[in-house]
Amino acid sequence: VIRLEGLRKSFGSLEVLKGIDLELHRGEVLSVIGPSGSGKSTLIRCLNLMEEPTAGTFAFQGRPVSLKFRAKAPAIGAGELRRRVGMVFQHFNLFPHLSVLENITKGPRIVLGESREDAEAHAMQLLSEVGLADKAAAYPAHLSGGQKQRVAIARALALRPEVMLFDEPTSALDPELVGEVLAVVRRLAQDGMTMVLVTHEMGFAADVASRVIFMENGAIAEQGSPEEILRAPKSERLKGFLSRFH
Ligand code: ATP
Ligand code: MG
Repeated sequence: VIRLEGLRKSFGSLEVLKGIDLELHRGEVLSVIGPSGSGKSTLIRCLNLMEEPTAGTFAFQGRPVSLKFRAKAPAIGAGELRRRVGMVFQHFNLFPHLSVLENITKGPRIVLGESREDAEAHAMQLLSEVGLADKAAAYPAHLSGGQKQRVAIARALALRPEVMLFDEPTSALDPELVGEVLAVVRRLAQDGMTMVLVTHEMGFAADVASRVIFMENGAIAEQGSPEEILRAPKSERLKGFLSRFH
């Protein structure tokens, strides 16, 4: 679905991604781990052009993604890419002045031109899938962190994305709320959603991931199956990183 070759990203003189080669296949769940500042968030933000790469190639379903430094037709633009690649953040980012139902239906109505009836029916289906059908009329301020994050996931799914990106979706949550969000992510994985998940939940990564990449200093330092990366790490750096989670 996604292919990156030699992808680079600099902020001013600071090079944060130093040539990333990555292939993401349909139905794959890719977990991204690595120390703080290694470029995990920047990498997944590049995958829906929330950050603009500064060099390299990026293809989505075999079509080049239009990058500012190299205009090339027929390319996928940022608008289409963001519709097809959904993203869930650490801090939910729900619209505080809209109800749960409105948070979910706004995107499909504006971006996909869905009727109110269709958008609301789909939203209610998604809310029941994340266990929140009874919260449709509530406002974000009245939800727990775990509930807000499940709404944020439903909101992203409402645009019927082909790929979902998660950037530490549970790291802002109290420990007792982590499980309910991970359960939703796990179900998506079982349903065959293609996903990239940045997480510090190593046990969960081992469970749901088809592949794990270990990033260090803007590059992919090691990658392989969860078994290889998390249970039998090769490099001393990866062993050192993982030992912090035991
Ligand atoms: P964490 O685990 O703390 O979330 P990360 O692996 O997600 O870290 P990134 O957020 O991708 O790391 O940041 C990688 C580097 O890029 C850091 O040095 C960071 O300071 C820098 N950086 C990220 N965003 C920007 C920005 N908008 N402007 C300047 N520098 C940035
Ligand atoms: Mg990050």
